[in-house]
Amino acid sequence: MAGEREFDCDLVIIGAGLTGLSLACWLLELSAQKQQPLPTLHLLEPRKEYHNDRTWCFWDSEHHPFRHLISHRWPHWQVSSGERSVSQSSEQTPYAMLPAGSVYQHALARIESCPGFSLRQGITVEAISDSADGVLISTNAGQWRARAVIDTRPPEATRVDEKLGFWQVFTGYEIHCPGHGYDAGMAKLMDFQPCQEHICFMYLLPLDRDNLLVEWTAFHPGGEWPDCQARLEAWLDERGFEDYTVTRSESGKLPMMPVSPSRQQGRIVRAGVGGGWMRAATGYHFSNCQRNCAELAGQILAAAASGHWHFHPPESRKHWLDWMDRVFLRALRRHPETAPDWFLDLFSATTAEQMARFMNDQPRWGDAVAVAAALPSIPFLRAVMP
Ligand SMILES: Cc1cc2nc3c(=O)[nH]c(=O)nc-3n(C[C@H](O)[C@H](O)[C@H](O)COP(=O)(O)OP(=O)(O)OC[C@H]3O[C@@H](n4cnc5c(N)ncnc54)[C@H](O)[C@@H]3O)c2cc1C
Repeated sequence: MAGEREFDCDLVIIGAGLTGLSLACWLLELSAQKQQPLPTLHLLEPRKEYHNDRTWCFWDSEHHPFRHLISHRWPHWQVSSGERSVSQSSEQTPYAMLPAGSVYQHALARIESCPGFSLRQGITVEAISDSADGVLISTNAGQWRARAVIDTRPPEATRVDEKLGFWQVFTGYEIHCPGHGYDAGMAKLMDFQPCQEHICFMYLLPLDRDNLLVEWTAFHPGGEWPDCQARLEAWLDERGFEDYTVTRSESGKLPMMPVSPSRQQGRIVRAGVGGGWMRAATGYHFSNCQRNCAELAGQILAAAASGHWHFHPPESRKHWLDWMDRVFLRALRRHPETAPDWFLDLFSATTAEQMARFMNDQPRWGDAVAVAAALPSIPFLRAVMP
């Protein structure tokens, strides 16, 4: 830890989850590519051990430092409700899965191999304050001084407004179930389930002939949380799954709502879900996170070269897309019972490539027009008004 005026390192990244680790890997990749010097970097992370605690899925269309670790690709995907189903197919932009365990292992090894980088585990940041020439970071294990900070902690409760969206709550099991019978090329993104209080669906990814990821998901307005695990187990019972073994489980509670901006430029920048990078209308974050980390890594390398430690937030997602999402979430909150029809209409009126771009936060104007045209005009025009 530092004395009064010296720095422990150029840059501190608070939190070594998806964003913190991605940013470190992008820094290593871009510095090698551009032959630019790396800053000295400390990542401060509370967890003492990493587990394979989640999978990241997205439409696989772009380069990123973890692309070679993708474990599964599905060229077909489907949304369904009762007897009705809509499928889309793309060999070019398949739906893909990245196990967190592989990402953690790869990123930790890359960080370990870089002399100027250091991952400090068991460290919880309690406060940060900046001055004219640096940032003071107070933790459970003392203080750090750095020239700049990227803060990837989750958003504070005061920065999300649940009246503007939903919580996406889910519990998933990876199960070993020999000969389960599901098509290994088809990702079932949403199979809507009858639900009184909120929007519920099963998410089902066949991993091979004998293994599946099955997840019960709810878009929930807040209040009393649904018991997703009980719903998932009831669904497995109803479907006659008997001889299965749970090999891994995951659960989450993601804010599908705008995250209000906090401190967004200067020596301290928020990043990741806490920086509003996750897409409010979908809960997808991975692809946008990679784009934003690439941009931020470019800014950091430029700062290390110039000595001018001042960042601005990456803005890879268009503002009009955030506006469309707000309207969509408002309409969905007012008419949750129509969600299955709206999602099925959306997938039937768009091409696979349009949907992949739209879901990956990279729609063209034509994609946005196709999406808007697929949805009923009256509830959506009304939802333009708060
Ligand atoms: C089970 C699960 C499955 C998901 N699946 C997908 C998916 O398929 N596709 C997709 O796009 N998105 C998915 N998401 C959403 C999102 O991509 C992930 O939540 C992702 O991990 C968010 O990245 P992040 O860096 O913002 O947060 P995190 O990965 O959670 O990283 C934040 C880090 O900050 C650390 N931290 C917290 N408090 C402090 C503190 N006080 N001091 C220091 N460090 C701190 C945490 O320990 C953590 O390591 C999923 C989320 C979950 C929970």
